[in-house]
Amino acid sequence: MEYETVIGLETHVQLKTKSKMWCGCANEFGAPPNTNVCPVCLGMPGVLPVANEEGLRLTTLTGYLLNCSVPRFAKFDRKNYFYPDAPKNYQITQYDKPSTVSGYVDFEFNGGISRVRITRAHLEEDVGKNFHFDRNSGVDFNRAGVPLLEIVSEPDITSADMAYEYLNALKDILIYGGVSDCDMEKGMVRCDVNVSVRPVGQKELGAKIEIKNMNSFSGVRKALEYEIPRQIAVVSKGGKLSQETRRWDDVAGITETMRTKEQAHDYRYFPEPDLMPFEPTEAWLEDVSKRVVELPLARKQRFMSAYQLPASDAQTFVWDVPLGTYFEQAVTGAKNPKAVANWVINNLRAKLAETQTALADTKVKPSSIPELVALVDSGKISGKIAQDVFAEMFATGEAPAKIVEAKGLAQVSDTGAIEKLCDEAIAANSKTVEDYKSGKVAALNSLKGQVMKLSKGKANPALVGEILEKKLKS
Ligand code: ADP
Ligand code: MG
Ligand code: ZN
Repeated sequence: MEYETVIGLETHVQLKTKSKMWCGCANEFGAPPNTNVCPVCLGMPGVLPVANEEGLRLTTLTGYLLNCSVPRFAKFDRKNYFYPDAPKNYQITQYDKPSTVSGYVDFEFNGGISRVRITRAHLEEDVGKNFHFDRNSGVDFNRAGVPLLEIVSEPDITSADMAYEYLNALKDILIYGGVSDCDMEKGMVRCDVNVSVRPVGQKELGAKIEIKNMNSFSGVRKALEYEIPRQIAVVSKGGKLSQETRRWDDVAGITETMRTKEQAHDYRYFPEPDLMPFEPTEAWLEDVSKRVVELPLARKQRFMSAYQLPASDAQTFVWDVPLGTYFEQAVTGAKNPKAVANWVINNLRAKLAETQTALADTKVKPSSIPELVALVDSGKISGKIAQDVFAEMFATGEAPAKIVEAKGLAQVSDTGAIEKLCDEAIAANSKTVEDYKSGKVAALNSLKGQVMKLSKGKANPALVGEILEKKLKS
């Protein structure tokens, strides 16, 4: 029997706010333990949370970026549990009335576009971090109360690779939107992986296995690459899987049982009495919607269709947004967008890297790039000379036409002048001329090279070839 895989991901992302969600403590990674704390985020009795408005804005913004709808009524709830990293003994989250619902993420996968539906993206708070030493343990509460978005996907993912691509696309969108830095090394993105298998054709989902707390996308893929065959092996031998939570052991490369359904938590959710429901006004939503940016995939597709760029160039401009913006300034009105892209990607970007210059500091005006392209396309200068002109543009910021004129770099298309150089080359290379006449066609290239050298690279190469051939054949 054939089996298919069903995967749904719950992704937790730290929001990029200056301060924590319910207090004024800094939302900052790497500070000495327990230095960004106060009575609120330490869960002292008698204190009250005050919602960070930017946290609410970023939540709604994420909803828009993920094509979700944003209900006009949302509220906060307490998820109750006891664990040393949760100082309040509950986590503030959104249970039945989340801030955003029913969206989707489109992304490139397997040579096409795949869509994963988003069930909801709701706001909650991060907890502290436990540290275990030789003889004791400690908790750092700097992270407690940092705004955290939980993005829940529908079970639309069908393979480990697809999960990996979805997560990367999600991360790119959140970084693009300025919602989160998504720095994996700093633990800003963590993910619970829900996976089941079922015989192809079966409607009901198989027993859901949840792999908790993954902190790298490659880890998610590896865990799934282990877990999917494990489940298929069990059911294809007639065994039965039951709902459970498992842990991924990265060193051993296996998943193992953490707790079964019987040991599942009962969180006793109830409405958070210390926070008002969140009822955004039209004006507030309008304000947030102004922060919506073009998504990476849309940008890629636009660069491909508007400028006829190959996918690889478009992708470069998706990864390097300022470079793409520069390209768009340069390409305005240009006849040959691909050539403009080549100069921006192959020459400008390389020179910036080589000289450790930021794009913002480059002297090359965007308008100079299409001018340079036009000089080449019209035959005014050769492609080789264009390289020298570009180097000068990069050093001085001068316009290409000015450089060509000042340095006398214009291509020589004057037939008389080229004829003279050809005669010179023919006279000086009698052996090569003989070779050509005795049938070695390649000898022509060598003569052509000589003429180009005599012209210091300025002769029009096509014309040189033509004239040489004519002379040698006569
Ligand atoms: P819970 O209430 O236990 O968190 P949910 O039904 O809310 O469970 O689903 C949590 C995540 O698990 C979602 O991303 C959902 O798409 C996914 N999911 C639900 N059922 C299955 C299943 N049988 N197999 C794989 N993923 C599933
Ligand atoms: Mg869950
Ligand atoms: Zn605090």
